Amino acid sequence: MNGSIRVGNLFGIPFYINVSWFIVLALMTLSYGGSLAAQFPQLGLGLPFLLGLIAALLLFASVLAHELGHSFVAIKQGINVKSISLFLFGGLASLDQEAKTPAGAFWIAIAGPLVSLFLFVGLTLMGSSLTIAAPLTALINLLAYVNLALAVFNLIPGLPLDGGNILKALIWKITGNQFKGIVFASRVGQGFGWLAILLGFLPLFAGGSINFWTILIGWFLLSNAGILAKDATLRNQLSQFTAEDALVDENPIVPQTLSLRTFVNDYIIGKTATRQFLVTNEAGELVGQISGDDLKTIPTSQWPLIQVQEVMQPVEFSTTVDAQQPLLDVVTVLEQQQLNELPVVRNGVLVGFIEKASIRRLLEQRLQANPA
Ligand SMILES: [Zn+2]
Repeated sequence: MNGSIRVGNLFGIPFYINVSWFIVLALMTLSYGGSLAAQFPQLGLGLPFLLGLIAALLLFASVLAHELGHSFVAIKQGINVKSISLFLFGGLASLDQEAKTPAGAFWIAIAGPLVSLFLFVGLTLMGSSLTIAAPLTALINLLAYVNLALAVFNLIPGLPLDGGNILKALIWKITGNQFKGIVFASRVGQGFGWLAILLGFLPLFAGGSINFWTILIGWFLLSNAGILAKDATLRNQLSQFTAEDALVDENPIVPQTLSLRTFVNDYIIGKTATRQFLVTNEAGELVGQISGDDLKTIPTSQWPLIQVQEVMQPVEFSTTVDAQQPLLDVVTVLEQQQLNELPVVRNGVLVGFIEKASIRRLLEQRLQANPA
């Protein structure tokens, strides 16, 4: 995340703090310290703010405990937790991949709120049974309340909140389609976002002032749920195709015995794309690659006499995809290896190229054919 500082590891998980968090820490220290100073004048001036700082830090420890709850369940399912970060709106445990089953997703989602509820019950019992100084009791009660609020807020059933992930798991279980679950729970999340924005502006009509935080949280829900819905819609579309559906239109495969003259006439002249062409042998196997640039040092008069195989370069592709491979997997490979194109093979024989642009074209055509 932008503006985040790595502060170490938590149980082997990289731990980041966003700069916005320090603003919240300062505001909380001041506001809680101030209210303690007013409530317990016998404490003097310095001590309430020290307690305020401790309270703010414990509050974020509660957020961390919540995120660790998600993380431990994910790790138990064999999912790598990339990072845990604290930012303006709380915390985020960033997972390497999604759960493989609806049940797995459900347990990861509910683990955080369960930790918060557990802390709420524990702190409430502690606050009511211990006989300690009143300011400390007040601090424990505040923390109990914060943990309850964390659990309740996060259980709102719209993405990106935990409750949204629970809803997603439920729809996923019912429909058998993970993406439908995400889209549905995101739409609900967008609904809650609009509701929060509306509620934030509502006091304006009663002569009051707007509730800035409610609007900000609403906007946060709205924009994040929108991104999730869009991404899931795209991945749902991709999951309906295989690699061969998105092959590049023009034939980018050149037989190795072709003369350079024919190669230039048939493949280069009049074509706008300046791409690499794949060279195959008689069996259709990939043996090399060639581009227009490879011909620059060869006099035009020699072109009819030289075959493609004499000037082709070794193939740089270490990865090929199978024609039957789901398009969603292909996109994942392209993203992970930061590639723009990949050769597609069927039974060891090259059938063409797939590239980011050809995938985009396929989806656009599909959208035009079936407008949503
Ligand atoms: Zn959570």
